[in-house]
Amino acid sequence: MTAALDVAVVGAGLAGVGLGVRLRRAGRTGFTVLERADDVGGTWRDNVYPGVACDIPSALYSYSFLPQQRWSRVFAPGAEIHEYVRDVVRTEGLAPHLRLGTDLTSARWDDDAGTWRLTTSRGPLTARVLATAVGRLSEPRVPEIPGLGTFPGRVFHSARWDRSSLAGLRVAVVGTGASAVQLVPEVAREAASVVVLQRTPPWVLPRGDRAYAPGEEPPDRAALAEDAELLFDARIAGTRAEADLTERARAHLRAQVPDPALRALLTPDYAVGCKRALFSDDWYPALQGPHVTLEPSAPVAVEGSTVVAASGARYEVDVLVLATGFETTRPPFAHLVTGRDGRTLAEHWAAGMTSHASTVVHGFPNLFVLDGPNAGLGHHSALEVIEAQIGYVLGALDHLDATGGPLEVSAEAEAAYTAEVDRRAAGTVWLRGGCRSWYVDERSGRLTLLWPGRAREFANRFGTFDPVPFQEGSGSRIRAVGRMSGDR
Ligand SMILES: Cc1cc2nc3c(=O)[nH]c(=O)nc-3n(C[C@H](O)[C@H](O)[C@H](O)COP(=O)(O)OP(=O)(O)OC[C@H]3O[C@@H](n4cnc5c(N)ncnc54)[C@H](O)[C@@H]3O)c2cc1C
Repeated sequence: MTAALDVAVVGAGLAGVGLGVRLRRAGRTGFTVLERADDVGGTWRDNVYPGVACDIPSALYSYSFLPQQRWSRVFAPGAEIHEYVRDVVRTEGLAPHLRLGTDLTSARWDDDAGTWRLTTSRGPLTARVLATAVGRLSEPRVPEIPGLGTFPGRVFHSARWDRSSLAGLRVAVVGTGASAVQLVPEVAREAASVVVLQRTPPWVLPRGDRAYAPGEEPPDRAALAEDAELLFDARIAGTRAEADLTERARAHLRAQVPDPALRALLTPDYAVGCKRALFSDDWYPALQGPHVTLEPSAPVAVEGSTVVAASGARYEVDVLVLATGFETTRPPFAHLVTGRDGRTLAEHWAAGMTSHASTVVHGFPNLFVLDGPNAGLGHHSALEVIEAQIGYVLGALDHLDATGGPLEVSAEAEAAYTAEVDRRAAGTVWLRGGCRSWYVDERSGRLTLLWPGRAREFANRFGTFDPVPFQEGSGSRIRAVGRMSGDR
């Protein structure tokens, strides 16, 4: 017997749209995707800075059930990825299921009714199942720099790009992460001068981007995925693979930066991969442009139009670009979601995000968190984990149909998964590499953003739904009906 489930999906990025497609293809039409913005695309709608592009080979960056065969480049520009998501919505007939311009403002589990009660900017809703797909790089992080509010010129975050011209202007870019490495070379082409304020240098690897020739066959996805998985080995601290990757990055730096003094400023003092390893062939050349300055310290104050660096250096600029990343370890949406005991996800996660299977949380029945705790990958496409999670949700829905639910993972299962993640993370560069990164929760020192294993292992273990972790101990509310697969 299949009961018609009402599923509320929050967020129309690749995770929410992908789940919508799979729900519809499975014949489950009683779902809605809520999206606060007026368009789909998530990351690729919001990040429109010059140079924005995939930072893994794009052949790995489309749904396996809807592969994109026509990327224009090895690393597709962001606008193309955005267009791909829009295309998926069109070709899969998802539009009737979308509620754009609808912000989820709270979600509360009603235990008596066995339903989620949602409030949104467009009124209340109820949903038997809630799937959050709100992203982990969707809330810009703005640093607290004294005086920032008094800056008289344009100031904006890289994910909220101000498209007005930079021609003839003096620009300061704060940060040297993945966005900065892509945008600085482009900004340097246009601006009169650029100063890059670097707290910590990134490790940078050669990129090898190029346009595909007309009619060129797309690369073999399975072979590329194999290659990507090998990169996980370099994330285990002290391995040969880590040493080899370090040498590749050092050789790239030596080849592109002849000046030993500048090279020293650009050489990280932590293990490669501890912070996200970046791919660029034009970052180092851009920093050596005659009108570009590398300031090797973070900004500590803004005084009028002057940015003051920790080193004491002062830079008068017209535009301030904050390439300062996102709120990752403390996702704002966690304050909006209240579970069975009246506790919010943020309270449950007071010492850092935890879950079972990176997708379900004890105390939060019929809730599925996509692309949340330990669901990122430092070495491969985010879609590998997202697709596995979608398979898990579909299997859970089958299970709910069969049992009536609700479905709440046990405290023991969540504790066991968390202990496994911690044990495996302990040997990785993410915890042993000597850096501070957005992968690690500063409150507990736990790795909470990344899955510390290969993508294939995650998919094999968690791409299908297993009801057993929902039966043990205090969280058990359901009867076993056997293992079910949502990955069809
Ligand atoms: C600049 C940049 C480049 C990246 N490059 C790569 C790459 O090359 N490879 C890779 O694997 N990953 C990359 N990533 C990571 C990328 O975020 C993921 O690959 C993927 O796009 C995440 O999809 P998502 O659907 O989980 O989240 P998002 O794309 O962030 O979508 C979340 C959606 O939820 C909506 N939302 C949030 N809160 C609410 C609310 N309360 N109510 C309603 N709607 C809400 C947001 O508006 C957004 O549309 C990159 C990230 C950034 C920022």
